Amino acid sequence: MSADVIDGKEFSLRVRNKVAEGVAKLKKDYGVKPGLAVVLVGEDPASQVYVRSKGKQTVEAGMNSYEHTLDATTSESDLLKLISKLNEDPDVHGILVQLPLPGHLNEDLVINSIAPQKDVDGFHISNVGMLGTGQKSMVPCTPLGCLMMLRDYHGSLSGLDAVVIGRSNIVGKPMAQLLLGDSCTVTIAHSRTKDLKDVVKRADIVVAAVGRAEMVPGDWIKEGATVIDVGINRIDKPEGGTRLVGDVDYDSCSAVAGAVTPVPGGVGPMTIACLLANTLTAACRANNVEEPVGLTA
Ligand code: NAD
Repeated sequence: MSADVIDGKEFSLRVRNKVAEGVAKLKKDYGVKPGLAVVLVGEDPASQVYVRSKGKQTVEAGMNSYEHTLDATTSESDLLKLISKLNEDPDVHGILVQLPLPGHLNEDLVINSIAPQKDVDGFHISNVGMLGTGQKSMVPCTPLGCLMMLRDYHGSLSGLDAVVIGRSNIVGKPMAQLLLGDSCTVTIAHSRTKDLKDVVKRADIVVAAVGRAEMVPGDWIKEGATVIDVGINRIDKPEGGTRLVGDVDYDSCSAVAGAVTPVPGGVGPMTIACLLANTLTAACRANNVEEPVGLTA
């Protein structure tokens, strides 16, 4: 058996097109142009790449992109002042503070200073609480992208056994909440889980979000299961140079699974697409306009 490949690149294009349509309609019918403000503190090269890419795709979707690049030594109070200004700015519908922040800044404090309705990363404690209690919230982009792909592939997820490997606040925990919201029977596995192979083996859906290269082999996967690989790991190639791999051993898993997301080209492209979707959602909610269907949880 060879698994279906869930093509995140193609799917993210569909999501971005849908966002662009929603943005055009919001502009035409209500005169509102959604705006996303991204705040970068310091000069971390990987963060700079992400921020540039986010800005480019925001503009391509027809939205305003506001980039705020601050010096690595910026004080907490100056950063909080900027966020407060963005919270008040009616042209800014989404605010994202690029993580990680330099060590002298308290990430929880900074994230919780963003107005929850503009928190397009879905990390504010109010959004975490609302997701956990099944209320309308801003949902973290990476798990939202995984959920969209799963819904697209399966239709209904109701009653399926899902195992999420990883319990981080940005991927594992919100992913589990979303799957629970779609009526899966959810297990969260982590570094202390006993008999991980047996736990994973009973799942109809496996979401791997660990950060360990190719740690999930094919013989952990139930035949026909759907495998969503969130991991992004850079490994050395035998012939020299490096390449990106996921948390799942792609070749052995795709011989057993029913469907699998590749790395690269799976979950990764969906994350920015969902950031754009969240910004449109925030702009619709701010203006009491009905949200486009299929872009939120
Ligand atoms: P994290 O380090 O915050 O969390 C990793 C989790 O894995 C922890 O909860 C830990 O308990 C669990 N874990 C560690 N070792 C384990 C083991 N041996 N067995 C079972 N569980 C184990 O990481 P994160 O931020 O959740 O990210 C996870 C991976 O996803 C990373 O590779 C990251 O780069 C990637 N990621 C990708 C995207 C994307 O857009 N595609 C977004 C976010 C994260």
